[in-house]
Amino acid sequence: MDLGEKKFYSFEEVLAYYKITYRPTGQQVKIACPFHKEVIPSMGVNLEKGLFHCFGCGVSGTIIDFVARMEGVDVQKASSFLSKKFQEVKREEFKVEELEKMFDEFSQKRAPALDELEAIYNTIVQFTTNHVPDYARNYWLARGIAKQTQEQWKLGVVQPGLSQILLKEHDIQTLDELGLVRMGKDVQVGRFTVPYFEYGSIVNVQTRATQEQTALGYAKYMPYIMKRKVRLYGVGAIEEKFVILTEGAIDALTLIQMGLPAIGVPGVETFTREWLPYLFKKQQIYVCYDMDAGGQKGVENLRKLFPQIHRIKLPQSKDVNEWFLKYGGGPDEFKRLMKQAEVIGGVNGIASI
Ligand SMILES: [Zn+2]
Repeated sequence: MDLGEKKFYSFEEVLAYYKITYRPTGQQVKIACPFHKEVIPSMGVNLEKGLFHCFGCGVSGTIIDFVARMEGVDVQKASSFLSKKFQEVKREEFKVEELEKMFDEFSQKRAPALDELEAIYNTIVQFTTNHVPDYARNYWLARGIAKQTQEQWKLGVVQPGLSQILLKEHDIQTLDELGLVRMGKDVQVGRFTVPYFEYGSIVNVQTRATQEQTALGYAKYMPYIMKRKVRLYGVGAIEEKFVILTEGAIDALTLIQMGLPAIGVPGVETFTREWLPYLFKKQQIYVCYDMDAGGQKGVENLRKLFPQIHRIKLPQSKDVNEWFLKYGGGPDEFKRLMKQAEVIGGVNGIASI
């Protein structure tokens, strides 16, 4: 059995296909066993691991075993049945017109940029990059982000007095709506700031805790304005026919610094359809997520959205940033890894538009 294939099917999809319902109780759910007659559900399904076990009749196995039993075929046939079904689901999911519409709406939205919110973000970025203290410069340097990149991407620090400046320059009601007024006293002071740009406009400012703050239990990442949605990092920085998706801002910046078109995905396990318009004109989607279970889950999520992706494998490194720090590789080395990327999926769909 090809394990490499198997991991792309989720038990949720299979159960939905057979119209088997269950109470959503996390990764472990109970269903009425379809293989023996029963009223009270006694089959446990581990959605994450893709395993099932019936405490009533004793059958157990993987998703493919489940399908094999349901269809009355061997595992080989069950496996190809799953592939076929999976592709069908995907083709149905991709309505190009729908994506075109989303893309148009998105293009219009990004045209009139300089509204009050952007003015507020501009104030924040100006103030946080005014005399960036050494500890911040050194933090980014240690992460391999050169001073020039830090300045260009306006990495900074929340300094005392930011809320006073905001109150001076902006309407108190607007600030209140954004949840910025109750901070009358300064909040998030000392945290590093990472502005998110989209085609040159600031659309969000993420803050991240220093090591000391992390040790004290403060959240590692936070948006400076709480009520704003998380965004992709590095949109429009470098335009190419392909894009390299990374986990988060620093990994993206590591590649952008090398002149490569990277986009940082916040929370790769929850890649949302809203982000598709940013990517759907790209001919090739490269993925360079972390080499761990979370990264794998992220790849599986993308697999549901893009018929074809190229997964870059990093030698002995958790993520791009670690790879860069470990081997000091440049764009040529990285492009070599891109050439060796694992191609996942077929050729139909938006990747080939
Ligand atoms: Zn049973």
